[in-house]
Amino acid sequence: SVRVRIAPSPTGYLHVGTAHTALFNWLFARHNKGTFILRIEDTDLARSTKEYEENIIEGLKWLGLYWDEGPYYQTQRLDLYRKYADELLRKGLAYYCYCTPEELEERRKEALAQKKPPKYDRKCLYLSDEERARYEREGRKPAIRLLVPEGKTVFNDIIRGEIEFNNEDIGDFVIMKSDGIPTYNFAVVIDDYTMGITHVIRGEDHISNTPKQLFIYQAFGWSPPEFAHLPLLLGPDRSKLSKRHGVTSVTEYKNMGYLPQALVNYLALLGWTPEENKEIYTVEELIELFDLRRVTKNPGIFDVTKLEWINTQHIRRLSLEELADLTYPFLKEAEWFKEENFKREYYLKVLTLLQERLKTLAQIREYADYFFVDDLDYDVEIAKKVCKHPDTPLYLEKIKEVWSQIQEFTAENLENSLRNLAEENQIPTKNLVHPIRVALTNKTVGPGLYEIAEVLGKDKTLKRLEKFIE
Ligand code: GLU
Repeated sequence: SVRVRIAPSPTGYLHVGTAHTALFNWLFARHNKGTFILRIEDTDLARSTKEYEENIIEGLKWLGLYWDEGPYYQTQRLDLYRKYADELLRKGLAYYCYCTPEELEERRKEALAQKKPPKYDRKCLYLSDEERARYEREGRKPAIRLLVPEGKTVFNDIIRGEIEFNNEDIGDFVIMKSDGIPTYNFAVVIDDYTMGITHVIRGEDHISNTPKQLFIYQAFGWSPPEFAHLPLLLGPDRSKLSKRHGVTSVTEYKNMGYLPQALVNYLALLGWTPEENKEIYTVEELIELFDLRRVTKNPGIFDVTKLEWINTQHIRRLSLEELADLTYPFLKEAEWFKEENFKREYYLKVLTLLQERLKTLAQIREYADYFFVDDLDYDVEIAKKVCKHPDTPLYLEKIKEVWSQIQEFTAENLENSLRNLAEENQIPTKNLVHPIRVALTNKTVGPGLYEIAEVLGKDKTLKRLEKFIE
C-alpha cells in the first residue's frame, strides 16, 4: 500500500512550496488510503532550529495535513546511517576519503584549467596502506564516498516520463561527512528504504539528486521507489518563488486571515488540473479527484490575487457561527474594540452583512468598526462631499423624524419610508442615501444601508443622524 512522506529541513519557516509538496503527498496518500509520514531532515546542524521545526509542524497542522507516522528525526538515526555506510565500505562500494576541502578545491581548479570535468578524482580510492596510515597519524578524519558505477542511469518519472543521466558526469560523492553526519542523498535513501516509502513525490529541484540516490539503492541491491517530481512554484515574473514576491510563509497567511481550506484549494490547483472544470473545491473533493498523472510539467505561478479570490469564496461558504469564531481573534485585535461592547448575537447579525465582503478574516477590523464604536469621528472631507446639496440638513432632519416614528425598525420599513419621503419632496433618493450612509458608518461604501440601520437599531441610528446634522 502507498507510503509517502514530506521531509522538510527545519532551516526556515514552512514555505508555501514545501506546503505544496506536502499537500500533493497528502492528497495522494488519502486518495489511495495510504500512509503519510513526516520526517524532519535536521542534519544541517548549523542552520536547523527548534523554532523553524515548530513553525513547520504548526503550519502543516493548520492546513490539516496530518501525518500518520512521525515525526521522525534524522539526528536520532545517525547510528543507522553509520551502520549502512559501513556495509558499503565492507562490500567495497564506498571508500574513505581523507582529502581536505582545501586540497579538493585546489584540484578542482586544476581540472577546470585543463578542461576536465571538476568531479572527484578518486585519489583516495587508490591510497596505499602507508598513505592511509600517514593520514590517520596526522589525525585526519575521513569522509566516506560512494563508488559511482559506470554507464547510464534511467528512471521513469510519473510526471516527467523517462529521465536519463550519464554516470560519468557524476563524481564519487560523499555519503558520510568526516563528522559522522550523513549527506542529504544518503540519509534520504536509508530513510526512504527503511520507512518503506513507495512513492517519492517532491520538487523538481531534486531531479539531479535522483541518479545519486539510485546508485545507493543499487549498491544495496534494493529496488527504488517510484519518483514524481512536481513543478516548482514561481513568482509572477517566472523566477523561483521567494520573499521578493511577497509572503511565502504559510503561518503568515494564517496571520493575515486566510482560511486553511482556501490555501489548500489554491495550492492543489498549482500544477494540477482536475478533470472537472471548476475552481472551488472542498478538501474531500480534492482527495476524491487527486491523480498524480494529471500533474503538469509546467511550473505553477503563485498569484496572491487569485488566492485572495479563492479565500473570499471559502469565507462565503462558512456558516455564520464558524465565521464568528474565526473572525473573533482578529476583531479583538482592532484598536477600537472593547470587550464590553461585544455581544455574540449582535455580532452574528453584523456578519450577515459583512460576510460577502471579506477577502480575509483580518478585514473584519476595517469593516466592523462602526457597528461597535459608540461615537463616530466623522471625516469632514467625506461629510462635505456627500452633503453638497444645500438642503441636505433639512432632509436629514426629516428622515430622522420619519424614522423615529417607525415601530418595527426593519430594513424594509426603513426603505419604504425613505422612498416615500423622497417622492413627496421630489428629490432623488441618492441625495438622502449617501449622506445617511456616511452618518451611520463614516464610510462611502459598504453593505446595504437599510440593513445596516436595522442592525444598528433605532437608538443608534437616530443618534448618529443627529450628531451628523450638527
Ligand atoms: N529535505 C529535503 C528538502 O526539504 C527533502 C527532499 C526530498 O523530498 O527528498 O528539500
